[in-house]
Amino acid sequence: VEAELMRAQRLESLSLLAAGLSHDLRNILQPLLIMPDLLKARTEDPRLWHMADIIAECGRRGHEMAQLMLSFVRGTRSPSERVQVQQLFEAVQLLLRGTLPDNIALHMETADEALAMDGNYTELQQVLLNLTLNAIQAMPDGGRLTLQATPVDGAGNAQWLCISVIDEGTGMDAATQERLFAPFFTTKADGTGLGLISCKRIIESCGGRIQVSSVQGQGSRFDLHLPVSERAEGTEATEAMLHPEMLG
Ligand code: ADP
Repeated sequence: VEAELMRAQRLESLSLLAAGLSHDLRNILQPLLIMPDLLKARTEDPRLWHMADIIAECGRRGHEMAQLMLSFVRGTRSPSERVQVQQLFEAVQLLLRGTLPDNIALHMETADEALAMDGNYTELQQVLLNLTLNAIQAMPDGGRLTLQATPVDGAGNAQWLCISVIDEGTGMDAATQERLFAPFFTTKADGTGLGLISCKRIIESCGGRIQVSSVQGQGSRFDLHLPVSERAEGTEATEAMLHPEMLG
């Protein structure tokens, strides 16, 4: 009972912290939403344009995450839209470039360009980023990092897709695999132990589930099983994603 109570208090403090953080974060990120475009207006250098795009994307993502964190703490659901896997993969690739160690080869394979699910774009992007960053951290000696998406036949008429994040890293022992999704469980000196639990929450809010398989010394594989989008093709909120409304 005491342990339960401590856990409840910890989550309560975490909620308060999150509410405060998201408020401050939105203010701090304001320049990131506006300045990249101002910078682009002053240069023709394609490398600077590319950097400005990455900064803008981080600003947009941070801003929306702050918003999502706030609605999570308040218990409201984040808006759902049609999200194309291809678009998610491209965003992850853009955000990883620059930070991807030289000894890691990133492979992306989508069986069908039009594969899409229903969910919140920023949240789903966060899931893929969490999983790929974990995978990169598990491969200090390098290796292949694979993101793949395939259609899967579900029960009855249900159509499903599977997004897999596969690494050739350290893998996990049985004890780690057992506690993987527990809040605050981490084996890293600077870890939070909140990455996977938030991935699980997001995937489950899309009606999906996460499956993990791992072999110590060989690597790990995270499979996200998700229902295929029922919304009409072409209804993705692409433009809004790339150009935050604050740009006016
Ligand atoms: P954090 O990354 O902050 O530790 P997570 O919830 O994302 O929090 O992960 C919890 C733990 O799960 C990690 O500390 C690590 O031990 C293990 N883990 C997650 N992904 C992998 C992976 N791809 N390979 C090996 N271990 C992993």
